[in-house]
Amino acid sequence: MGERILIVDDVATNRIVLKVKLRSACYEVIQAASGREALKLARVAKPDLILLDVMMPDLDGLSVCSRLKRDADTRDIPIVMITSRLDHASKLEGLHCGADDYLTKPVDENQLLARVRSLLRDSNRAADLRKQGALALDLALETTPLASDTDPHVALIAPRPELSMFWRAGLAGFKGFSLRSMTRLEALSELSSDHPVPDIFVIASDLSHRNEGLRLLSDLRSRPATRHAGMMMVVPANDAERAAIALDLGAGDVIYDPFDPAEMAVRLKTQLRRKRQSDRLRAGLSAGMQMATLDPLTGLFNRRYAMYQLDRLLCNISTMLVVIILDIDHFKSVNDRFGHCAGDMILRQLAERMKGHIPQDCVLARIGGEEFLVAAPVRDGPSAYALADALREIIAREGFYIGEGVAPLAITASIGLAVATPEQNQTAPRMIAAADEALYASKTKGRNRTSLAKPA
Ligand code: GH3
Ligand code: MG
Ligand code: MG
Repeated sequence: MGERILIVDDVATNRIVLKVKLRSACYEVIQAASGREALKLARVAKPDLILLDVMMPDLDGLSVCSRLKRDADTRDIPIVMITSRLDHASKLEGLHCGADDYLTKPVDENQLLARVRSLLRDSNRAADLRKQGALALDLALETTPLASDTDPHVALIAPRPELSMFWRAGLAGFKGFSLRSMTRLEALSELSSDHPVPDIFVIASDLSHRNEGLRLLSDLRSRPATRHAGMMMVVPANDAERAAIALDLGAGDVIYDPFDPAEMAVRLKTQLRRKRQSDRLRAGLSAGMQMATLDPLTGLFNRRYAMYQLDRLLCNISTMLVVIILDIDHFKSVNDRFGHCAGDMILRQLAERMKGHIPQDCVLARIGGEEFLVAAPVRDGPSAYALADALREIIAREGFYIGEGVAPLAITASIGLAVATPEQNQTAPRMIAAADEALYASKTKGRNRTSLAKPA
């Protein structure tokens, strides 16, 4: 069985008609005969989508909708309101309550199923993101700032400039987004430049040619820069068939032309809310990835990620790979004398110095408190030693800033290095152990020196 859909209607025959349509498309259907029962079932049975009748005796659909949208447990469930009324005001009210769309009875099967597919697609995507990031996400979301405080951008793409001007004029009085008219070519060509990508595209289904807007929609959906933008399709009045196609091609919403600007405004806000939510999830996810791989103090890779990278480098050696471990000398006494903050400043500057010195294709990581690792492809043993000793040299050469009015502090580091060739089949732990032993030799010989590990 597919996703679970809750049908809410006080008239049994209405429920049966909808149920038959949905079951034929392989959805699991559950039913509620009243508003109160709907509220209970929505919490207990966790449907993936709700089809909600507006006129019900006990608690009407609008009240059910706003209660579900206020409850954190149910607010992400998409809701489609269904009514026999053609009353525009109640339609707007439903959208204001947080409903995702509105269908009128008798419900057209194609239109219903296309709408159901599109809403489930979007909410499944958000659920996937949540699942992928489950652990890291909460932490990451806490620390990820919202993308920007500026109004989201809405791009209007109509067949003629006069029409998009007319749309703009109608929408001008509504707050919460900024509007811009665009041509099809501008939408496609600006993607590579540094123009901000619109948060939502409002596109007429027909542009210079019939269905050109629909093709533009799938084009924008397939390109990396606009893949995550919201898409709102404007289709000619009563063209339910193309409305359904637009939804299947990836539109988040559809509106019939000519539209009421107030309805467009509230639909845009719903789309923007969804987009903001998934933007945050994605940002949180990549922040979570960073947290899993980076050391927060220096921004270098952390130990775990360095081990993973080292293993990969060891499997792909062309001539020789050097593994360098660098440990700051007497760092404990630096902390003791100048404080932990000064110690942290030194660690950050040291990371920057090393970053500026090593070649591009190296791994540089902080693998312990005052211990760093470099893994780099090299030509031969002498160039491996030269790279390691140059790192020692750039640290010892110049003092480190530890605060206003304090003389820069001289710091030295000891280094151990080990080299691997392709035929040795070295592993990361063995290389680290060998470099560590050489580092220990540098420490015992008096520090501020570079030692090469004995050949394996
Ligand atoms: P040695 O020359 O033998 O390496 O002496 P050492 O004092 O550097 O080595 P030891 O391992 O005894 O002490 C390492 C010190 O590094 C202990 C701790 O105070 C300091 N340290 C570790 N992590 C951090 C950090 O994140 N910030 C600061 N400020 N200090 C750190
Ligand atoms: Mg140490
Ligand atoms: Mg040390």
